[in-house]
Amino acid sequence: TPPRVAFLGLGHMGGPMAVNLVQAGVPVTGFDVVPAALDVARKNGITVADSPQEAVRDAQVVITMFPSGQHVKAAYTGADGAEGLLAAAPAGATFLDCSTINISEAQEVATLAKEAGFKAADAPVSGGVVGAQAGTLAFMVGAPDDVYQEIYPLLDIMGARIVHCGDNGMGQAAKICNNMILGISMVAVSEAFVLAEKLGLEHQAMYDVVSKASGQCWALTTNCPVPGPVPTSPANNDYQPGFGGALMSKDLNLAVTAIEQTGVDAQMGQLAAEIYKKFSDGEGARQDFSGIINTIREDSGN
Ligand code: NAD
Repeated sequence: TPPRVAFLGLGHMGGPMAVNLVQAGVPVTGFDVVPAALDVARKNGITVADSPQEAVRDAQVVITMFPSGQHVKAAYTGADGAEGLLAAAPAGATFLDCSTINISEAQEVATLAKEAGFKAADAPVSGGVVGAQAGTLAFMVGAPDDVYQEIYPLLDIMGARIVHCGDNGMGQAAKICNNMILGISMVAVSEAFVLAEKLGLEHQAMYDVVSKASGQCWALTTNCPVPGPVPTSPANNDYQPGFGGALMSKDLNLAVTAIEQTGVDAQMGQLAAEIYKKFSDGEGARQDFSGIINTIREDSGN
């Protein structure tokens, strides 16, 4: 029999993830601070709780899908005098955080959970809202082996690719390293296209060479920042996300925190974080992250 799940944070990602669990026969009690999210959840067969404490009272697995680490820590420990999830959950429960948060915060909340007698895992995702709806997310898991084995069947319902990356925090580490490469490579591909424009080299000609040469990467061949060469890329749809500029900025900030905490000389990662912060503070707030090419083009006088 599947475990009783409490699902907190029923937003863009958590909402459809919880629905997939219910549709696979997992009993899910949900909670979100936004009433509209609860209405959608109720319509989809999720049992809606009146409070986070009530949601976890009977849970065997407590899943959180919040915007940031502060939300996770506040929920676990209780904010503004409220009882935290760690105080409200029954003995033996497993805390599974799927939010994308700082590696150090992930390790901190896992330690808090363990000190309170619980098991803990971080399992951030990639694949976006489309992947959450389709149940095809990629999960990067940081947990001890026994906890990984326990949560695997749930992740398998919500995802299509699950990688055990190591102990607590290593799921976040894998996610943040990947997205640092992605942010840097999207800037690189965009700069190359703008340079090509200045030089009089056609987009398609550059694409035909680079996509089969050593510059090949996902930012070029799947999420190509110019319309044309890859018809399904957001550039062909007025840069509608896709993967939003604000989310890329968030993930690069998490990378910068890790870079600073470890003292790594990662100049490209730090520069990409600055570039995406400016982008997401401005027109990038509602655009796919590949829209960075338009900023580069404007700043180049093209
Ligand atoms: P979202 O803002 O749509 O959803 C977060 C939800 O948490 C909101 O509905 C909010 O009301 C709720 N919430 C906040 N505090 C709460 C609390 N104390 N109790 C109950 N509910 C609370 O965000 P999202 O797009 O679903 O992203 C969630 C996480 O997944 C983020 O960490 C994000 O970086 C990561 N992520 C998002 C995407 C994406 O494409 N959206 C892709 C990969 C990873």
